[in-house]
Amino acid sequence: MLLWRPVPLPLEYGLMQDNLPRDLSRENHPAGHVIFHIGEPGDCAYLVESGSIEVLARNGRAIAIIKAGEIFGEIALLDQLPRTATVRTREQTVLLRIDRSHVHELLKRTDPVIRHLLTLLLERFRHRSDTAPPAGHLLTPLLERFWSRNDDTPPQISTQICCQEGDGAATNLTLMLAQDLGQAMKNGQLTLAYQPLLSLPDRRLLGFEALIRWYHPILGSIMPTKLIALAEKTGMIRALGLWVLSRAIGDWPTLRQHCDQRQTAIPFISINLSAPELANGELAETIDQLLKTADIPPGQLQLELIETTLIDDVPTASACLEKLTTRGIGIALDDFGTGYASFEYLSTLPISCLKIDQAFIRDATHDSRRREIVQMAINLARSLGMTTIGEGIEDEATAELLSELGCNIAQGYFFGRPMPLEAIPDWLTETRALGRLA
Ligand code: C2E
Ligand code: MG
Ligand code: MG
Repeated sequence: MLLWRPVPLPLEYGLMQDNLPRDLSRENHPAGHVIFHIGEPGDCAYLVESGSIEVLARNGRAIAIIKAGEIFGEIALLDQLPRTATVRTREQTVLLRIDRSHVHELLKRTDPVIRHLLTLLLERFRHRSDTAPPAGHLLTPLLERFWSRNDDTPPQISTQICCQEGDGAATNLTLMLAQDLGQAMKNGQLTLAYQPLLSLPDRRLLGFEALIRWYHPILGSIMPTKLIALAEKTGMIRALGLWVLSRAIGDWPTLRQHCDQRQTAIPFISINLSAPELANGELAETIDQLLKTADIPPGQLQLELIETTLIDDVPTASACLEKLTTRGIGIALDDFGTGYASFEYLSTLPISCLKIDQAFIRDATHDSRRREIVQMAINLARSLGMTTIGEGIEDEATAELLSELGCNIAQGYFFGRPMPLEAIPDWLTETRALGRLA
């Protein structure tokens, strides 16, 4: 179902202007009148009888034009979902209002088989919206379709008005979300969650990984991978990356106070970087400045790179990473084992830490092949002078196994989920009480 694709009258079913129900209310609006605003709950659809309307994105730009004989706002006939755009008349326009209650009333009176069929479809629609991560019941089918794509790639932004093609609505959505993301950076919708990193085998708190969170006012929580993909595709990743770096480095002096002071290892904050950020020739200098302002030695910062995002531009990434490592900043290869170029990167980039992907860790206790792969990764890292972090540890047996295999650092729900800064003191108390943290 496409939100802003004009829906013509379905003539094949005999729904024509001259046989429309007489009790539909008719609204006559002058040019420039707003029919509804983005975010408002919808309880009716409209049929354009004469004139035309324009659909406006959040920035006020027209993204579709709907003319006489077409319907808009029809999602509201199914459920009270928020309007996904603002709609305004372009000229003197007459609209026929189709209320949800009207459709429900007709449904009650219709043939039982048709009623059953429509009820079933509606239930399926509701169920899919309710169970679809991440935005729960607020997702429209389109949003659901977009956010549940298997890959992490949102559609490319197009500068054209996009109401003709199937992906046009998704493109509109990308455009709107990109605008929302820009706002989110300014108005506090973005936050960082911190996930503990523990030394093995002694289980002392060594540091935290910073993980981004976006709570969208309409869509709810947005998955970080989708958010990063959106930022990469829309050219906002540098601004977003800078926001993350500055927030996490700013928080580190507070976070560091919670780390175990009894150990010899240097505590550190680990921050994810996206490949396009490495193309920024001034990244190292920017980080220098941030560290200086927060009075943090470079050795207390680790940057995590996902191997798959590096593939396009290894030489530029490499030059940037060299600059960072000469300052003493650590570089971790994230999700090791899931990309295509792990070994190439290990041989060409100045990596200081391997983060073994959770896919291998998760089954390592009962799958001997995966255990061998984890062991191999740990041995390889050790022989290259790198440390290892085991990600996705969810139980005691896996934590034990990783200790035995010689992994240096543990991360996973078993020890602690990503949490806001303020939640750390309570987490420390609880986790110590459980005997999971020294
Ligand atoms: P990642 O860097 O590999 O982060 C680890 C992910 O695994 C996090 O997901 C974390 O919540 C999850 N995780 C940790 N322990 C467990 C566990 O025991 N079980 C399970 N099932 N999951 C666990 P999250 O926060 O959804 O982040 C997903 C990815 O998004 C991150 O993977 C990272 O690639 C990216 N990301 C997150 N924040 C940022 C950021 O600030 N910048 C960039 N460039 N990427 C980010
Ligand atoms: Mg990471
Ligand atoms: Mg990872």
